[in-house]
This record gives sequence, C-alpha cells and structure tokens, in this order.
Amino acid sequence: MGLFSLIRRVGRVAEPAPPHPAASAGPAALRGSLQLRHVDAGSCNGCEIEIGGCFSPVYDAERYGTRLVASPRHADGLLVTGVVTRNMERALRDTVAATPEPRVVIAVGDCARNQGEFAGGYGVVGAVGDVVDVDAEVAGCPPTPTEIIAVLRQVTGR
Ligand code: SF4
Repeated sequence: MGLFSLIRRVGRVAEPAPPHPAASAGPAALRGSLQLRHVDAGSCNGCEIEIGGCFSPVYDAERYGTRLVASPRHADGLLVTGVVTRNMERALRDTVAATPEPRVVIAVGDCARNQGEFAGGYGVVGAVGDVVDVDAEVAGCPPTPTEIIAVLRQVTGR
C-alpha cells in the first residue's frame, strides 16, 4: 500500500512531451518503433551519460517508441558515440553489418560527427561518417537528452 500511495502522491515526473515532429530521418519502415544498440567507438563517456538520461523517468524516450537493446541483431539502428579509434574501427564495421536492414545509424555528439576534441589524435581513425554510412547526427559536446530525443523522434515520427 505504501508504494501505491507514493505513486499517487508523486504523480508523473516525466518532462511534458514537445509537439509532434515530422518524420524526416531514416527509413520509413522504422516509423513508430525503433530498437537501438549503443556503440561507444571512442567516447569520453559524456555522451553516454546523456543517452542514459534519455531513458530515465524524466525524459522517458520509450514513450516515443525508442528502446535500447543488448545486441545489434535485435536492433533497427545504432547510436554511435565518440571518435572512431583504431581499436574500434573493425568492431564498428562489424556491428553495422550485424544490424538488419532497413537500419539507421545515428552519430551522437561532436566527436562522432567531426572528431570534436579528439581530432588529430594518434589513435583516431576519423569521425563515424568516415568509417560507416551515417543517416542522422546529433550536435553538441555532449548533446542534451532533449536534443538526442528530438533526433530519435524524427526517425519514429512519434
Ligand atoms: S562529444 Fe563531448 S561528451 Fe561526447 S564523447 Fe566527445 S568530448 Fe565526450
């Protein structure tokens, strides 16, 4: 009973949903439901913290039809963070190949988009788009959960 009264007292904690977006990114087959595998190609972990925030009760990205899954074989798309390091180049290519088509690849954060803070580093192969095809990008260092979710909603259209 204590739990139910706590739920009644606290109520809903999620941020109010912004207006409905136009579906404009990724293949049309992924509208409505998007299962995502996260790949850290060489991040500082700042972007990971913000992705974690997206799926917290406050931002609640699952209400827009997105969900994190444990394997690329269960996924419709990849959230890739960080520059692509030499040790992760092959793993990133293999993970994209293991994700069934139609799929969407989303580069999250400035490092993933254009190498950001790590441009020119000795262990850096390049940005995500230098290694695999990228369908959508989220700018920022790190991007906020609101900015990440805005791009996810462009894919799901929810
Ligand atoms: S974009 Fe910023 S927060 Fe994200 S991995 Fe690069 S340095 Fe870290």
